[in-house]
Formats: sequence, C-alpha cells, structure tokens
Amino acid sequence: MSRIVETNSPEETFALGEELGRQAEAGDVYTLIGDLGVGKTVFTQGVARGLGIEEPVSSPTFTIVQVYEEGRLPFYHFDVYRIGDIEEMDEIGYEDYFYGDGVSFIEWANLIQDILPEKRTRIQIEKDLEKGFDYRKITIEELE
Ligand code: ADP
Ligand code: MG
Repeated sequence: MSRIVETNSPEETFALGEELGRQAEAGDVYTLIGDLGVGKTVFTQGVARGLGIEEPVSSPTFTIVQVYEEGRLPFYHFDVYRIGDIEEMDEIGYEDYFYGDGVSFIEWANLIQDILPEKRTRIQIEKDLEKGFDYRKITIEELE
C-alpha cells in the first residue's frame, strides 16, 4: 500500500507527521529518506507531537538513537547518518528497539538497509523545484 501526499509548507509536512504519529502502533518501524534540508526533521517533529511528546525533538547528533518516553508509546528516534559501521547498531542493541513495544523512526535508513525489518513503513521526501521552493512530495509505503 502506498500513498503520496504533496505539501507546500513546513506546517503541512508537520501535520502529516502528526497524523502518522497519532495512528502509530506499538512495534511499528518507519524509515525516512530524503536529502539534507528536505524536511525530515520537520516531519519527525510532527510524528513526535502526534505521539503526545511535548519536549522538543531534534536530530540526535551525538548518539544514534534518542529515546522519548513521555508520549502515548515510547518513541525511538534514530539518525544513522554518521554511522561508520553496522556493528554500531549491534552495540546499542537495535533489535530491542526495532522489535520492541515502541515506535522506531529511522532517518537515513538506507545506510543500514541490511538490518531493517521486512515489515516497515518507508517514507520518502523529495523536492521538485519546478513546483516551487516549498513543494515536497512525500511517499508513504507499507512494506511486508
Ligand atoms: P532535514 O532534516 O531533512 O535535513 P529539516 O527538516 O531540518 O530538513 O529542514 C527543512 C527545511 O525546509 C526547513 O527550513 C523548512 O522550513 C523548509 N521547508 C520549506 N517547505 C517545506 C515543506 N513543504 N515541508 C517541510 N519543510 C519545508
Ligand atoms: Mg534533520
């Protein structure tokens, strides 16, 4: 199942993330791909809000995963952009997150392709400058 949403402002992208966060279920894994500056953080902040997380969510810069416990479900926010070796994922015990009772959200997931669960939701954000500077095409695809 695949869904495409076009947005024209950060607020619209946030709102889509929020909708997803409200619908997320325990054990869900989402991957998020898109170039720098495309809106991954904006989207993720929406997801966090949808889960009922009030504290500000930014990309985890010094750790691979940031855990938020205050929402409706635990939220595991991964940013694997700086990962050197896939073994770093073993070291943090990624399976406890991916196959646990929270919601995993993985930015730059293409860098850890080999260890992603088959069952996951893939989100891709793309620009199209011909359609305007603030235009984003967001594709949400459920994989089994
Ligand atoms: P990333 O995390 O992918 O590097 P950010 O979310 O940090 O990107 O930044 C996205 C930037 O693009 C923000 O400055 C935001 O205001 C801007 N922007 C403009 N239009 C949109 C849109 N439709 N959706 C999301 N962000 C947008
Ligand atoms: Mg970011």
